[in-house]
Amino acid sequence: MLLLGIETSCDDTAAAVVRDGRDVLSNVSTNQDEFHAKYGGIVPEIASRRHASLLSAAIDDALVRARTSLGAIDGIAVTAGPGLIGSLVVGVATAKALAFATGKPLYAVNHLHGHIFAAFLDSDATPPYPFLTLLVSGGHTQLVAAESAREMRVIAKTRDDAAGEAFDKTARLLGLPFPGGPALEVLARAGNPKAVAFPRYRPEAGALDLSFSGLKTSARYFLASDAAKLVSHADIAASFQAAIVDVLIDRVERALDAREYRAIVLSGGVAANAALSSAFRRTGAKRNLPAFVPERRFCTDNAAMIAAAAERRGDADLRDPLTLTADPSLPFA
Ligand code: AMP
Ligand code: MG
Repeated sequence: MLLLGIETSCDDTAAAVVRDGRDVLSNVSTNQDEFHAKYGGIVPEIASRRHASLLSAAIDDALVRARTSLGAIDGIAVTAGPGLIGSLVVGVATAKALAFATGKPLYAVNHLHGHIFAAFLDSDATPPYPFLTLLVSGGHTQLVAAESAREMRVIAKTRDDAAGEAFDKTARLLGLPFPGGPALEVLARAGNPKAVAFPRYRPEAGALDLSFSGLKTSARYFLASDAAKLVSHADIAASFQAAIVDVLIDRVERALDAREYRAIVLSGGVAANAALSSAFRRTGAKRNLPAFVPERRFCTDNAAMIAAAAERRGDADLRDPLTLTADPSLPFA
């Protein structure tokens, strides 16, 4: 199938054309960072308004770059949730209108399924079930057991902050520009990850839950202390990043101890972090399991992953587009 994907759940206005859930013919994304940077975070009202003005052009661009047209595609896949309601509504309303006007099938995709299938974009690999996913983004940090494309179970979550949120908040304390995660990674490259002994959350043996708020608070107190004057910001960034990576990898190891999987899959915006993806790959190698990590351009929010998820999961055709609503809290399983 040739699907048009649309993604507007947060602050990326994205459209893509994907064949067979895998071959990315175009992947257009208009980043809004410059509009949110001065507020130090995403402003929902601004995000919705930018989507409203940019989405039609993004869709046109995606069709042109894929050398196709609305008439030639087999269906439209759109992120229906979770996300910011004002942002989601722009994508969903646009997709519904296109489906209605063209008579093509309409697929409502859970954004988190999109992140998981991002690891198989532009790759010849077929997802080897069951696999374990570490899903790390600005809003979510979870371990997901994928028994099949349709049967996915969240087996662990963060008790508080998402990993991306912890990166962003600490980056801000370090005076780094928004978005903080990528900036913190760049700064960390020049630092010593052992310079500061930040705490690692370790639940009782066998437990899989995650937590980053203690680490975040500890970074805040450390930065305000006299000890902080003795180490560079690069050292602090590297030490903070190492603590996040250690906690995430420890929980992956625990999940792999608990049962057998055929592969491990990294997904979500934080998958773009090279310290994390290298550690993840090492875990795969040590366990003799293939480790799938999305290409960098498919780690952060994009529409190709939304089209891929609709096809790989065989999401239901909601050809009567009136039945589809945007849902910021769409359950994920
Ligand atoms: P998403 O929620 O999937 O759009 O991912 C966005 C989140 O990923 C934000 O919290 C970013 O700060 C974080 N992120 C993106 N790139 C990196 C990176 N290289 N290192 C750490 N965090 C990152
Ligand atoms: Mg996302």
